[in-house]
Amino acid sequence: MQVTWDQNKCSHAGVCVKSLPDVFKVVEGEFVIDITQATEEEIVAVVKQCPSGALQVLK
Ligand code: SF4
Repeated sequence: MQVTWDQNKCSHAGVCVKSLPDVFKVVEGEFVIDITQATEEEIVAVVKQCPSGALQVLK
């Protein structure tokens, strides 16, 4: 599984970083997605909650 993030769509609502801070985080000013830090189900659930559609799951 891969998760992509579209910077231009992101509304910076913070749903992802608040829900799974170990997966979705900002490191040195860069938005990072570390899919090793949660289960696939947990990540998919958060991607579905993204209000802007910036996050996409690729299987
Ligand atoms: S949940 Fe979606 S819109 Fe909100 S910060 Fe994360 S990627 Fe951006």
